[in-house]
Amino acid sequence: MIQENLEMVRKEIEMTCARYGRRKEEVTLIAVSKTKPLEDLQEAYRAGIRDFGENKVQELMDKIPRMPGDVRWHMIGHLQRNKVKYLVGKVSLIHSVDSLPLAQEISREATKQNVETDILVQVNVAGEQSKFGTSLEEALTLVQHISLLPGLHIKGLMTIAPYTDQEEDNRTYFRFLRQLSVDIAQKNIDNVNMNVLSMGMTGDYRTAIQEGATCVRVGTGIFGSRN
Ligand SMILES: *Cc1c(COP(=O)(O)O)cnc(C)c1O
Repeated sequence: MIQENLEMVRKEIEMTCARYGRRKEEVTLIAVSKTKPLEDLQEAYRAGIRDFGENKVQELMDKIPRMPGDVRWHMIGHLQRNKVKYLVGKVSLIHSVDSLPLAQEISREATKQNVETDILVQVNVAGEQSKFGTSLEEALTLVQHISLLPGLHIKGLMTIAPYTDQEEDNRTYFRFLRQLSVDIAQKNIDNVNMNVLSMGMTGDYRTAIQEGATCVRVGTGIFGSRN
């Protein structure tokens, strides 16, 4: 089932790219495997997936040593400062950096381990109470402060759009995030690039790609619903 689902998602991504003038190589599919057993991840791996997204540190720590070494792990969930030490050096990209204290902790740990950590700044574009992320208004200031820290590099922005079954509803949020990334890129801040735009999930990844996503995070569409 996972292999068939993956084929469908990949086809959708290809068709969307073709229709909206994007190259399919510009869009990375991250398979969001949270709560799913190792066999499911292995099936996705055999079907060619190398990017996996998880939202809990403990689950990542359990899964990382059990999967092949060429997997790129993405931390996409809210991160507490006291868990940073477990992640740094283990994951390819932390998508969920939403405060200066969290970034400072990542910087401290990366410096201690003598590694470089790539991060995205998470923006709560829709201003939902239930979601983490800096506001659109505060994002630039946060990026400027984080950019000064050693041991980490800002690669772009991430957002989680509101849950909807009408993906068109989220188009404006994706547009706002993309515009923000263009605005920040124009500032030419040292140690900041805006190459990555992580937006779009099972319900809205097509719209996100139309609006410029370079990473889509798809869970249910690949692995089926979570318990
Ligand atoms: C769970 C999760 C996803 C995947 O959601 P689906 O709707 O199952 O595709 C994507 N991004 C984040 C941050 C998540 O927590």
